[in-house]
Amino acid sequence: MIPDWGATTLFTQGQYKPEGEVLDHLHQRGVSLEESAIVRVVGDGEHIQHVELADGRQTAIQGLYVAPQVTITSPIVAKLKLETVETPMGTHIKVDEFKESSTAGVFVAGDLSNPMQNGTFAIASGTMAGVAAHRALMFNH
Ligand SMILES: Cc1cc2nc3c(=O)[nH]c(=O)nc-3n(C[C@H](O)[C@H](O)[C@H](O)COP(=O)(O)OP(=O)(O)OC[C@H]3O[C@@H](n4cnc5c(N)ncnc54)[C@H](O)[C@@H]3O)c2cc1C
Repeated sequence: MIPDWGATTLFTQGQYKPEGEVLDHLHQRGVSLEESAIVRVVGDGEHIQHVELADGRQTAIQGLYVAPQVTITSPIVAKLKLETVETPMGTHIKVDEFKESSTAGVFVAGDLSNPMQNGTFAIASGTMAGVAAHRALMFNH
């Protein structure tokens, strides 16, 4: 998505080597690859000017996007033995289309139930989980 907005460099931090189809796709999208790790982000507190790389070079950039992974910290998930799903974005709880988890009667909403963290999706999933929980109470299943 990011190459749609301008010249893009993928900093792999030396931890990931794109290959095959992924590499072809990055080339098609005009993405430059940088393997040397970013060790410092330099700016004036408001704008980023450049990043310093482990091999001593500096690269000017206008913006920096990171790809953090979500981890589940609540002990409730393990206590209720809810099944989880691993994705490149991290871990979320396995749910069906009505947001019911692998444990009957337990409904999950928000980022916990969705690999695409987004406010609108979180609200929509909360609505679905609420409706489905109410329905389950009415029909006792
Ligand atoms: C930096 C950043 C930028 C983002 N930008 C956007 C954006 O531009 N647009 C967009 O749509 N989405 C954006 N998101 C994603 C969006 O914020 C989330 O998808 C959304 O907030 C998820 O809502 P949620 O209710 O699932 O979880 P949260 O908003 O994380 O709410 C969970 C709440 O539960 C509380 N909590 C946790 N454990 C317990 C406990 N044991 N007991 C009681 N309370 C507890 C937490 O304190 C928190 O208030 C961004 C996220 C981040 C981190």
